Amino acid sequence: MTVDPGVSGGVTLLGELSSFLGSSAIALTYLGIQYLLKSLGFIDSVNTLLAVIVLILGYLGEVLDSVFGALLQPKYRCPRCGVMTDREVHVCGERTVRIMGNYDLENEDVNLLVSAIIAALSVIALLLLIGPRMVILDL
Ligand SMILES: [Zn+2]
Repeated sequence: MTVDPGVSGGVTLLGELSSFLGSSAIALTYLGIQYLLKSLGFIDSVNTLLAVIVLILGYLGEVLDSVFGALLQPKYRCPRCGVMTDREVHVCGERTVRIMGNYDLENEDVNLLVSAIIAALSVIALLLLIGPRMVILDL
């Protein structure tokens, strides 16, 4: 099914690649900060596994956002252009027809839901990997 660019739940190879590169950039930045902190003597060792988890959870967040967007957000079809969209009025000006989505979650609701899930998974990963001592800052 063809959808307008940016429609929640729509995925493209370019979008997935961009998302993966975005997560990679954040994970690499985190790794770089760890090396910097180690060279300055603030930490004893660099934890590569944590950077990998940042990469995985970042990408998982994008995947969940697409899945929840596809399942929970209403979708409309433009009768004039024949494409699926998130909008009740298409960019061409035509009023659209609702074709799927039983829940009235907005894009922002899905973003909040996914952010909360990823944040919870991050805390669980931290607790499992390095224990509660490091989660609460050792000041
Ligand atoms: Zn249209």
